[in-house]
Amino acid sequence: VSTAPTVTLDNHFARHLPEMGTPWQAAEPAEPHLLVLNEQLAAELGLDPAFLRAPDGVRLLTGARVPEGATPVAQAYAGHQFGGYSPRLGDGRALLLGEVANPDGTLRDIHLKGSGRTPFGRGGDGLAAIGPMLREYIVSEAMNALRIPTTRSLAVVATGRPVQREELLPGALLTRIAASHLRVGTFQYARATGDIELLRRVADYAITRHFPEAAQAPNPYLALLESVIRAQAELVAQWMLVGFVHGVMNTDNMTISGETIDYGPCAFLDAFNPSAVYSSIDTMGRYAYANQPAAAHWNLTRFAETLLPLLDENQDDAVKLAEQALAEFPAFYSGAWSAGMRIKLGLPDGVDAADIAGKLLTLLEEDHVDYTSFLRSLSAAARGNVEVSRSYFADPARFDAWLAQWLTLNPSADAMDRVNPVYIPRNHRVEEALAAAVEDDLEPLGTLLAAVTAPFQERDGFERYAAGAPEDFGSYRTFCGT
Ligand code: AMP
Ligand code: MG
Ligand code: MG
Repeated sequence: VSTAPTVTLDNHFARHLPEMGTPWQAAEPAEPHLLVLNEQLAAELGLDPAFLRAPDGVRLLTGARVPEGATPVAQAYAGHQFGGYSPRLGDGRALLLGEVANPDGTLRDIHLKGSGRTPFGRGGDGLAAIGPMLREYIVSEAMNALRIPTTRSLAVVATGRPVQREELLPGALLTRIAASHLRVGTFQYARATGDIELLRRVADYAITRHFPEAAQAPNPYLALLESVIRAQAELVAQWMLVGFVHGVMNTDNMTISGETIDYGPCAFLDAFNPSAVYSSIDTMGRYAYANQPAAAHWNLTRFAETLLPLLDENQDDAVKLAEQALAEFPAFYSGAWSAGMRIKLGLPDGVDAADIAGKLLTLLEEDHVDYTSFLRSLSAAARGNVEVSRSYFADPARFDAWLAQWLTLNPSADAMDRVNPVYIPRNHRVEEALAAAVEDDLEPLGTLLAAVTAPFQERDGFERYAAGAPEDFGSYRTFCGT
């Protein structure tokens, strides 16, 4: 038990890149009430969970009490939203509170989402509702447990202040942790100022925080570009492997670090369907499941454009360098995807799994097979019990042919169970937990979190979190910015 320890944060971003944000103060919540605290993450950050649960700690989590050393800022960024460029987005309802140092000396951002209007708010109210903030908490922590790079969630605090959406909703604020909040849109903003020295400082800042080895390269900015291309290619491969649809891959929602960010309209596939779209506003399917690698490549092209003035004094040569770097994306992506599929299918090192995995996905698509449940069932098939896997197909004859080919490759069932999750945040269970939480019943949230934060370990009593959505759940719709 602790009495108000002194929490000190760095103001590293505010100090190094003052042009890239506006110092700002969080709105003081009317009646703050801690809904969920990530004790393990708190401890990792050197923050005492007992303190964070106390009134002073909750004040810290909401930005009402600014820690020593911190200069909270609303960060500036631009971005392409569904392909259309906005020169000024930025933290409209968020703040970078400050940074904490990890044991290895790298920094992590403590960030507030739903902390009130900022000068970047445009028409928005600067607020967030309990449901979407808990949704981000659940899905980001599930992603982390699935070993996918992601921003983390430290806490959700109900503000006691209602938020006007289509109806009046209870308000909340998320305390988010990230390697940084540098986005492709951050570079677009810096580039658009026309101040090349500012752009260079942003690039140097990104190199220092995320890719320090790039500083030693003959062309550090080319090395930065290559590193970000690789990080995002590998990230999107991980999304595809786990059946994750981000839903709003605008350039302001793609991090330089390669962490997943902005859990708005995201969802996990139930039935395998390459054209799956959940977001209510993605009417063209721009960010459909199967389009995600192409969307990332498009975003990286926008990133490369911002770096042209730094890549070479001669802009024709700069374009050539950028094009060469971007041309590596498909190989990085396919390499990461094939390697992941090889492991998911339990196959030994050195096997090229792309072909056999591709054939399997075609079968899954044709029979609308539940992606997560099916892949988990395959380890039983590797152990000799093929019936559960066969039962997913109306006419198993073609699956039997696939199975026979796969079994000749000697898949390791134990290896498969370490990488194919039993529990993902299934859409119907997330909705169930959010609906209960809004009515002050936090138990379904706690049970869902227990399931999805240990996703590979099958446990008694959690069967309902492994099962697919019931027929009557219908086609799922998600919403941005709520
Ligand atoms: P997103 O679609 O979540 O990536 O958000 C796009 C932009 O809208 C960002 O600049 C956000 O800060 C801003 N934004 C989203 N919701 C709100 C809100 N309720 N109030 C102010 N700004 C918002
Ligand atoms: Mg965003
Ligand atoms: Mg958002």
